[in-house]
Amino acid sequence: MAIRQFKAESKKLMDLMINSIYTNREIFLRELISNASDACDKLYFKSLTDASLAVKKEDLAIHIAPDKESRTLVVSDNGIGMTKEELEKNLGTIAKSGSMDFKAENQSENIDIIGQFGVGFYSAFMVAEKVTVISKAQGSEEAWQWESKGVEGYTLTATEKETTGTEIIMVLKADTENENYSEYLDDYTLANLVKKYSDYIRYPITMYREKSRQKPKPEDAPEDYKPEYESYTELETLNSMVPLWKRDKKDITPEDYNEFYKAKFNDYTDPLRVITSKTEGTATYTAMLFVPGRTPYDFYTKEYEKGLALYASGVMIMEKCADLLPDYFSFIKGVVDSEDLSLNISRETLQKDSQLKLIRNSLEKKIKNELHAMQANEREKYESFWKEFGRQIKFGIYGDYGMHKDLLADLLMFYSAKEKKLVTLDEYLEKMPEGQKAIYFAAGDDAERLAKLPNAQLVLSKEYDLLLCTEDVDEFCLQILQNYKEKEFKNINSGDLGLETEEEKKAAETATEENKDLFEQLQKALNGQVKLIKVNPTLKDHPVSLSSEGGLSMEMEKVLRKMPNNAEGMESTKVLELNPNHPVFEALKAAKAAGDDDKIAKYAQLLYNQALLIEGLPIADPVAYAQMVCTLMQ
Ligand code: ADP
Repeated sequence: MAIRQFKAESKKLMDLMINSIYTNREIFLRELISNASDACDKLYFKSLTDASLAVKKEDLAIHIAPDKESRTLVVSDNGIGMTKEELEKNLGTIAKSGSMDFKAENQSENIDIIGQFGVGFYSAFMVAEKVTVISKAQGSEEAWQWESKGVEGYTLTATEKETTGTEIIMVLKADTENENYSEYLDDYTLANLVKKYSDYIRYPITMYREKSRQKPKPEDAPEDYKPEYESYTELETLNSMVPLWKRDKKDITPEDYNEFYKAKFNDYTDPLRVITSKTEGTATYTAMLFVPGRTPYDFYTKEYEKGLALYASGVMIMEKCADLLPDYFSFIKGVVDSEDLSLNISRETLQKDSQLKLIRNSLEKKIKNELHAMQANEREKYESFWKEFGRQIKFGIYGDYGMHKDLLADLLMFYSAKEKKLVTLDEYLEKMPEGQKAIYFAAGDDAERLAKLPNAQLVLSKEYDLLLCTEDVDEFCLQILQNYKEKEFKNINSGDLGLETEEEKKAAETATEENKDLFEQLQKALNGQVKLIKVNPTLKDHPVSLSSEGGLSMEMEKVLRKMPNNAEGMESTKVLELNPNHPVFEALKAAKAAGDDDKIAKYAQLLYNQALLIEGLPIADPVAYAQMVCTLMQ
């Protein structure tokens, strides 16, 4: 029989999983139970719309059977089962996104990779040397057997199975000095694991347990009769079956939330925050939402699917209901259970369901308020949230033409040049000295460099704070916002900052008047590269500076240039600013007085290129520039 190979990525990942030092092996059980429970959900849900399927919810169950003699552990369910094709598709590939680049060299990174994918079915290989899956799909006459000993591949053969459902048979690995796999054959350990990780599963998880009881006292028992004991086995349901969100909040520990989150959403990091909500009235629902502790590996890709698990009166009707979450909160995971939704609702009608819209709106507000509360009361946590998902909030502000900016603006945080830490816009406003008219920001890749820009120095010299915006999306986001609580956002390199004194203003006017011809000549020499040359008397030690006019700043130009379809045509309107109090300005004037046109043309190029360098923009001809500097030195 031919051995089928796993997809290449799967092989690598599985290898990592089996051989990694992943300490939390025991979670394999919760993963298998979770799959079994999903399979029961699927079958039950199908039966609601297909009357020919006489499935009763009470009949669906998951069974665990350890056998010490054969060292096998079996997890079985009577859920929907898998066809041959499904076995192949679902268990023949681990990584569904084929483009992932696995960094296999480093052990500590390995753990990360496993966590990022969610361990799923393959976690069985952490404890088993051989895994056999026997499955019969609902509606199918055939049963199929999938079997694998790990990375080498798997076999797929026809087999017999009486009932619909899936059976996972694991032959456990031999114990080693450091690892005791036999404990997973111990009913006490297994019962505890179910309680710990899978208590909330809504189908009974059963196991035969060895018990002991007193034999009935014989009627003719002598005076000194000592009670006798006998052992017997009994089928026990190990889980309480109450979904976590249906339990009384005061009985739920933080560990319960964490374990639930990790089991349900395939994460191995605890969530940052749990948001629970129970409402009655216009929209009756219970929600248990989670802010993940870190960005899912595919979050900023097309593959990521947002959505909340949707339950109607305790029955899962959709695994990821996207309509429940706006895009800017797409990182939220969770469960919504509502009695107002009909059980056999189709996806299409669900989209138009007015009840669903009510729930969505109410959840949106709730999430917003919780994030805001976290910002106010748990700053450290909020900052780590911001690091993971701040980008998404910023996208939310500038997406949909800024429709949601009012909802999201107070969640923003930027790095403050003065405070040297992240601040909210409200905090910025609170610390504003009297007389400050705008919220100043600088945009670029590197905060340190931004703080050294001539205009940054000017703003800071006035005791005004400056937001250093280092993410691509920042400036687009602030431009859509325009202002916050009536204070306008001002890019320090766009347009007139209006920070000069009366004296400086006058000096600028005079210098402009006196050097009109010089400016014209410089402008001509720059051949359309700048729209305007003007005097800026606030530049202090800097001879030149570059600013831009209009809606598109130089930083935005940079960002747009990086985008695949946007290479041409998007250019900012640049203005070259000269410091009239700098010796360089004197040199320009001297060249003009001497009528040295060649020198003026060279100076124009030099100054323009310098200004570009200061802004972190590329210069068109670095070689020519270097040569020009050398000529000057000789
Ligand atoms: P995930 O559960 O995250 O999708 P898994 O690797 O655990 O990933 O499982 C892959 C797929 O195999 C599941 O999505 C499901 O379709 C199928 N599957 C796994 N276990 C079962 C089962 N007991 N019954 C039916 N289908 C199953």
